Amino acid sequence: MSEPIIDLRSDTVTRPSAAMLQAMLHAPTGDDVYEEDPTVRELEEVSAARFGLEAGLFCPSGTMTNQIAIKAHTEPLSEVICEQTAHVYLWEVGGIAFHSGASMALLPGDRGRVTAAQVEAAIRPANNVHYPTSNLICLENTSNRGGGSCYSMEALASIAEVAKRRGLALHLDGARIFNALVATGQKAEDYGQYFDSISVCLSKGLGTPVGSVLLGSKAFIHKCRRIRKVMGGGMRQAGILAAAGLYALEHNVERLADDHRRAQELGAVLAAQPYVAEVLPIETNLAIFRLRDEMPADAFLAQLEQQGIRASSFGPQMIRFVTHLDVDDTMIERVKTTLQELSVPA
Ligand SMILES: *Cc1c(COP(=O)(O)O)cnc(C)c1O
Repeated sequence: MSEPIIDLRSDTVTRPSAAMLQAMLHAPTGDDVYEEDPTVRELEEVSAARFGLEAGLFCPSGTMTNQIAIKAHTEPLSEVICEQTAHVYLWEVGGIAFHSGASMALLPGDRGRVTAAQVEAAIRPANNVHYPTSNLICLENTSNRGGGSCYSMEALASIAEVAKRRGLALHLDGARIFNALVATGQKAEDYGQYFDSISVCLSKGLGTPVGSVLLGSKAFIHKCRRIRKVMGGGMRQAGILAAAGLYALEHNVERLADDHRRAQELGAVLAAQPYVAEVLPIETNLAIFRLRDEMPADAFLAQLEQQGIRASSFGPQMIRFVTHLDVDDTMIERVKTTLQELSVPA
């Protein structure tokens, strides 16, 4: 019997478990465009309450929740402040220009994280005809490009203080916010006091097949519901998908600690290999590392592929491993052995 493929490309590759599928099968449903799907409403309420915010909006993807939030917080001639490798800038097809007609102020961060001082310095002077209007700051926690790095609560509080004092809205791209919460021990409900809106992905570490929720005040979510409709994101009996989210919030959060431990184990083995130049600090479920020039990234990935292991190329000589629900300890052992046996091409 051949061994199962070990897919470390992303935490989006997980398949719904049998228990999650059962929850989906039994979900009560209704037409969610009429706001009559009880399971969607429950997911929106439960998620909002968890983060200390009033209301939620279930959407097909994290790109949509981010882009809806940005559209709702800005108008054309606005400027959005974010870190230069932020997902909202780098991996959402330039959607901020397309949907919102806004420009962007890009800050060089520390593994994807910016400081309050950097943010404040990027705010444009008001009442100057030359400038766009700075009215939104977007943070990402954990930072994807930063290798799963987490913000401290103090750092978030000081950025929120700048946002409030200078009259800017603050949005969180929390695609992997539960990884950050589990890794740092921070409380979800503390986030609501700092952020005007939060996007949470259910289809990353939490392991659902589809969906993200956007959280904010009642008035904000009311505005976002119309923007979701114009983007074509109004869904009908979406309760079967929301049920997977509710199941995940209950069963798949604490176990993220296992993913984090496994990423650490991979990091330790990687750091000891002669063909690895550098491993970024590992805080959550992402392990990003740089190969020495003797081991071209293509050759590395091809050798892994031969052993049934998949990973992502993440820039020149950079590779990303992601641990998730569908990678267990036996698989991690197989990856470790393979890494120790790889040969540098002659
Ligand atoms: C995955 C991800 C998103 C949203 O991605 P979708 O594939 O559209 O759900 C947003 N931000 C970050 C940081 C991500 O990693």
